[in-house]
Amino acid sequence: MNYVSTRGMTVAAHGLHSADAIKKGLADDGGLFMPAELPLVSADEICQMSKMTYPERAAHILGKFLTDYPAEQLLADCRAAYDESSFVGGAAPLHKLNDTVHVMELWHGPTCAFKDMALQIMPKLLSGALRITGEKRTAFILVATSGDTGKAALEGYADVDQVKIMVYYPVDGVSRMQKLQMATQRGENVSVCAIKGNFDDAQTGVKQIFSDSNAADALDANGYFFSSANSINWGRLVPQIAYYFSAYCDLLASGEIKAGEAVNFSVPTGNFGNIFAGYLAKEMGLPVKRFLCASNKNNILTDFLKTGVYDRNRDFYTTMSPSMDILISSNLERLLYLKTGCEATAAYMRSLNETGRYEIDAQTHRAITESFTGYFCDEEETEAVIRRTFDTYRYVVDPHTAVGLSAAEQYLAESSDTETKMIVDSTASPYKFASAVCRALNGSAPDDEFEALDVLSQTTGTPIPGPLAALREKEVRFTEVIAASEMLSRTLNEAK
Ligand SMILES: *Cc1c(COP(=O)(O)O)cnc(C)c1O
Repeated sequence: MNYVSTRGMTVAAHGLHSADAIKKGLADDGGLFMPAELPLVSADEICQMSKMTYPERAAHILGKFLTDYPAEQLLADCRAAYDESSFVGGAAPLHKLNDTVHVMELWHGPTCAFKDMALQIMPKLLSGALRITGEKRTAFILVATSGDTGKAALEGYADVDQVKIMVYYPVDGVSRMQKLQMATQRGENVSVCAIKGNFDDAQTGVKQIFSDSNAADALDANGYFFSSANSINWGRLVPQIAYYFSAYCDLLASGEIKAGEAVNFSVPTGNFGNIFAGYLAKEMGLPVKRFLCASNKNNILTDFLKTGVYDRNRDFYTTMSPSMDILISSNLERLLYLKTGCEATAAYMRSLNETGRYEIDAQTHRAITESFTGYFCDEEETEAVIRRTFDTYRYVVDPHTAVGLSAAEQYLAESSDTETKMIVDSTASPYKFASAVCRALNGSAPDDEFEALDVLSQTTGTPIPGPLAALREKEVRFTEVIAASEMLSRTLNEAK
């Protein structure tokens, strides 16, 4: 299967396969990689998949896109990545709240956020890509993170052969738990560095380094090349398609739905990666009626879906769901590409870059809103949902998941569509944001993050996830803080 750029660079002529796309991360014209055509999954196949384990389902979906990878290798990699030892309690189990709403728990992996679903398998896909392409250099993975991606990437790539990883995070832009998770990371090939500034400064710094040809030459001379682990990389997106099929298969297997019956998904959204993976599943043949695009107070996507205007010239809010505090949703570019083609997409992205804004035409807007509806909820409502969900169902959710539940509630109130099963993606363990959840449930939270874990456990009668409890004993390895302007020299120094 060939891969093309969303901005039109004709890479197919050069035979760019999935291994190259995963290795490179970003196309040379600044666009994102997309498969030249989407593979289909038949109704029969979905029934077959409902009898499979999660690793088998994932390998089946991966195999449709990564046609240059040996199928047995993909299956072995999925079995290793989604093993019970790393995903305690299963990879993407469903929790039934009521006759309509089911929560898909995507946070059973080692870092307690849904990023593990992709970043536990992605290092294996990169290693495969190095093998397939005969690459002898070491991949230097550079990550800018607002918290969850950094830790999940560190955990996935720690001590992987022929890989080095460096993570930059904003010194005051991540939660204490997230900071501790990164600062205590094990591994000989990892490096973590805080920068003075916010997430956008970190992200801009990383993008500048990626597009600096002198930096690339300097790395090459030392036997390295740059690669990315952010959701702009196709290797991040394709494993996420699998759990949309898996959730559907689970409902089929338990008799909640009949074959062919459509479902709805509500997805807490930041960079538009997770929800876009779901949309690809639908385009491949999964019966989905509607995707609810759930945002927090940074509701740029809600406005876009309502009006067709994407405008980042607005205030930025710091919320209790920080992984969704984002004004440039990179993966929206892939949806625009599917709906309008590469020329229009390149023009939209130019406009976004130059003016911070673009507007799609009425026909494209209609095509997009056939599948997507945007909802948002503010901080007060996020807390209220956490409280309500616990009071009504004795079920604890984190603030990101609460935003998704709020969207589902708003949609159900508006549409009365309770007949259609609603699957809400749960993207983080409540313990990852223990203080915020304690405040929502008890009206207050202890100052100390570990005390908050204990209080949350006592309040809800649920166990603290092992990886978070273990942080208490871990030694802090990384304490460095630098100016954003020093990122390039710091990176080059690491690649010596
Ligand atoms: C990354 C993240 C999101 C947003 O996912 P996108 O793919 O960026 O839309 C939502 N919730 C949590 C907990 C996350 O870590």
